[in-house]
Amino acid sequence: MARSLILHLQLHCQLHHQVGQRQVARRFVGPFHKLQTQAGKNIPKPRVFPLLRVMEAEKVKVPHRQIRQLVRLHHRIGRAFDAARHAQSAQQVAHQRGFARAQIAAQFDESVAQCRLGRQRLRKGLRGGFVWPDGGFYNGQVNNFRTHNDGDAKVSKIQQWGLALGFSQISVSGVDLSSAEPGLSAWLAAGFHGDMAYMAAHGMKRARPAELVPGTLSVITARMDYLPATTPEGWQAVEFARLQRPQQAIVSLYARGRDYHKVLRNRLQKLSDRIALEFGPLGYRVFTDSAPVLEVELATRSGQGWRGKHTLLLNRDAGSVFFLGEIFVDVALPPTPAVADHCGSCSACIDICPTQAIVAPYRVDARRCISYLTIEHAGPIPLELRPLMGNHIYGCDDCQLVCPWNKFARTSALPDFDARAGLADQSLAEVFDWTEAVFLNLTEGGPIRRIGHERWLRNVAVALGNALRGAANAEVRQALQSALQTRQTHPSALVREHVVWALAQA
Ligand code: SF4
Ligand code: SF4
Repeated sequence: MARSLILHLQLHCQLHHQVGQRQVARRFVGPFHKLQTQAGKNIPKPRVFPLLRVMEAEKVKVPHRQIRQLVRLHHRIGRAFDAARHAQSAQQVAHQRGFARAQIAAQFDESVAQCRLGRQRLRKGLRGGFVWPDGGFYNGQVNNFRTHNDGDAKVSKIQQWGLALGFSQISVSGVDLSSAEPGLSAWLAAGFHGDMAYMAAHGMKRARPAELVPGTLSVITARMDYLPATTPEGWQAVEFARLQRPQQAIVSLYARGRDYHKVLRNRLQKLSDRIALEFGPLGYRVFTDSAPVLEVELATRSGQGWRGKHTLLLNRDAGSVFFLGEIFVDVALPPTPAVADHCGSCSACIDICPTQAIVAPYRVDARRCISYLTIEHAGPIPLELRPLMGNHIYGCDDCQLVCPWNKFARTSALPDFDARAGLADQSLAEVFDWTEAVFLNLTEGGPIRRIGHERWLRNVAVALGNALRGAANAEVRQALQSALQTRQTHPSALVREHVVWALAQA
């Protein structure tokens, strides 16, 4: 039986070859249920079933001689075998491409197209999606996205839809980030990522979108301003004044409202749905501040702005107070042009950084950055850095507040980023008094919640210690000490250690 099945497959391999030569639709393998029955009797399932599941569905009509050169049937079938080991995954991919069930074993190989036909077209001054000369591919399903050479028009449409969804700017990047790899490698090798193990975990995949999400040909980048609509003129001065009040708890501006992950992700998903609806089936994946993605690099290449010396993205019309998100898509879109660096000789962000975390222009040692220390870092905060943290208890905006380009920062029309009660004008003593239940309640739906109550108390204890050190007024000192003493018996050793340190600052 095993021998007859092998012969059967050999026969269909020949058919496969003929399909390519004759450009006609053929079914490679007979009805799946028949083979499955035979195989089930005589051949171990793990070896046979994934192969048969794919082969059964094969029916290909190669539409055009020129395009045929771009179709690697063998290659795609091989991939399909892998996918078939994960039936759900195969079904999902098929569904995204407009199939009712997993039928894809061969498909247009855009990676080849990008290398050959795509380059030829670019040399001729043409941009946009690849030419798809006629329909009838994919069992009659044609992905309209790939049928026209009107990439610029499509990008324009996507930008319009993005703006309607509340994004400030939509751009497109290619997937070749190879020039960023040496910098990423050096940054990781220096250990600047601290204990953010996920930064290193994905290796160079972070710089290779097509490896992170196989099939990715373009990345749609999105930017969303986040200053609340009620932000006053001269808001930087307001924030600097807060920093001068040692007993005030300072939460980074972006974290005072709703969790931006949710806000952006929902809208990126809606944008993806709209693209698929209007232009045809689309393979995609959305990211927003997701660990494996080089967001600033992609945004820079797509012309959203340039990387400032503080390593954040800067935009001439919006400064740096915005969130970024991405949609990795399996269609080739024309990239939007990059813009020039406008930092010039300025070094204000480097000079103001309280912990000297910007160790060189465009290079931040995250281990020294207050944003990292108060959010990402789980353990004790290094003793030498605690006095430098002032009254920051969640994140830090100092390098952005001082940046001259943020005079162009824009407010958001979305109410999601409006500051919530308790996160803009609270005193350190008040937020230190929050029980875990209160903490969870007041931070529900916001980004702060993910650090948990223990890290929250750790951060506030450091700020209280800093306030205590500088307090000249006896009454104030007494109030700060009283606040700290309430946590001296906290069940967390981490919290207790920071309280002891803070009380010792008197
Ligand atoms: S966020 Fe604060 S600590 Fe981090 S680099 Fe900017 S100024 Fe320095
Ligand atoms: S403060 Fe100056 S150097 Fe830093 S990012 Fe802004 S413009 Fe560039």
